[in-house]
Amino acid sequence: MFDLIEKAAADLASAKNVVALTGAGISVESGIPPFRGKGGIWEKIDPMEYAHIDSFLQDPEKVWRVLIKGMKDVIDQARPNAAHLGLARLEALGILKTVITQNVDGLHQDAGNTDVIEFHGNFAWQKCMDCSRRYATRSVDMSRLPPRCRCGGILRPECVFFGEPIPTHHLYRSQDAAEHCDVMLVIGTSAWVQPAASIPLISKQSGARVIEINPEPTPLTHHISDYLIKGPAGEVTHRIMEKLAKLR
Ligand code: NAD
Ligand code: ZN
Repeated sequence: MFDLIEKAAADLASAKNVVALTGAGISVESGIPPFRGKGGIWEKIDPMEYAHIDSFLQDPEKVWRVLIKGMKDVIDQARPNAAHLGLARLEALGILKTVITQNVDGLHQDAGNTDVIEFHGNFAWQKCMDCSRRYATRSVDMSRLPPRCRCGGILRPECVFFGEPIPTHHLYRSQDAAEHCDVMLVIGTSAWVQPAASIPLISKQSGARVIEINPEPTPLTHHISDYLIKGPAGEVTHRIMEKLAKLR
């Protein structure tokens, strides 16, 4: 692992256009559980039952009570960890240009990254399903679920549920960023969910180096990634940043 940390630091130090693709794993050390894998939300609840748009439309109260309210409580408490802060530092150094994230927790922006493509939306906002009025999540009264708009309509998070399409402008911008980077950092994603899983492939085919940080191998490992640094995102990123500081 130590050799790979040095290798990653050297790859980043000589790069000019780094793009990061992040998933739920990058926020685990901030106290937000991932969906899949050990300790994941899916061990307790069935995704199709709670995170599919059809389930929400059928029984919004249930989805709010079991999934959304719980996520809100954890996200409210979460702060960026060393991995988010490391990516913000890489941007400040002029090395990293864009973060593409599947996360809805807003922690990349909290850490200081300015170009964040949120594939699956953001949890910070709720939208009325009838009149489209938007509310900051923290201002929403959750004493009765589902929360409602002034007009009486049901509120939903501005996140992409399973069964809903990714907004195409996010998709195009991500594909463009992936095509033009020289290093792609893939952090904490199981790479099972499309189209996020195909973003590193675009970078690879365009000649970029693909570096993965994850405690577990993924379908990208050995096929698309040049190497996997096995370990938690915060700890690994912190070590890479220490080495990088010595190289510059
Ligand atoms: P995932 O839940 O499918 O996979 C999580 C991955 O993170 C796994 O590969 C796991 O090995 C890895 N991981 C676990 N702990 C880690 C750590 N400390 N450091 C680095 N990696 C670690 O996540 P996904 O691929 O992002 O897909 C799930 C979907 O769930 C996303 O699209 C996202 O919208 C949603 N989600 C978001 C959040 C969030 O916003 N923080 C949390 C849960 C789920
Ligand atoms: Zn309304």
